[in-house]
Amino acid sequence: MPNGQPIRLPHRQHMRAELAEAVAVAWRELGRAGCWLTADQRLHVAACARAAWQCAGCDAQLASLSPYAAHVDHTPSDSLPGHWVRLVHCVVRDSGRITRRLRDEVVSAGMSEDEYVEITSVAVLTRTVDAFTTGIGAGELPMPEPVAGAPAYTPNTAATPGPGFVATTAPEHAQPDFADFYANDSHFYIRRALTLVQGETRRFWRLANALYLEDPRVEELDGVSRSITRAQIEFLATRASAMLGCYY
Ligand SMILES: [Zn+2]
Repeated sequence: MPNGQPIRLPHRQHMRAELAEAVAVAWRELGRAGCWLTADQRLHVAACARAAWQCAGCDAQLASLSPYAAHVDHTPSDSLPGHWVRLVHCVVRDSGRITRRLRDEVVSAGMSEDEYVEITSVAVLTRTVDAFTTGIGAGELPMPEPVAGAPAYTPNTAATPGPGFVATTAPEHAQPDFADFYANDSHFYIRRALTLVQGETRRFWRLANALYLEDPRVEELDGVSRSITRAQIEFLATRASAMLGCYY
């Protein structure tokens, strides 16, 4: 089946059309080869992201003053190496305490920065869709079927080191096929985070834009269709961020 099975999204009839489409596309693409990961690897990372919630090692790590205060054993994966599992679990369960040390350790263990970015993105996409479908009372979607195909394996020659732990595409270095990503002065650091792997960046933001706002600078919801006010959106975001320890 070249295109994979269609995603049956519960409650789709009650959702904004572009939101339902963005969720379905994000989920379906977990089962397709990415820029550096195969379809099977992406699905194993997604399954690993879900398993992190039942990981006793993550529980022990979270209870420690520092993520390095105690040796913890994360629930292993049958299909992924230990340093991949560690990155995925830290992204899902303890992201607020990720430092350059984690990046250095997993890269020393053999992970490329490109893989680091795509693994992080797949883990976040999985967590985001799971949170959304659970939040609307639909529970977790079944994993998509893997689609045959190879990753592009195309290095990003425009990327330069930093400003965070991995290389990114600076707005002034964006090539013509990526310049639109930073159009309209939308070169906030939060958008730059995954730009080492530009195809994955676009996958992430196709979902994030639909879940939140494509341009957060709009006043109120001028020209944007939402069922709650901008103030209500930001109140929910602030409360959820505080409860999750996200202080961006
Ligand atoms: Zn864990």
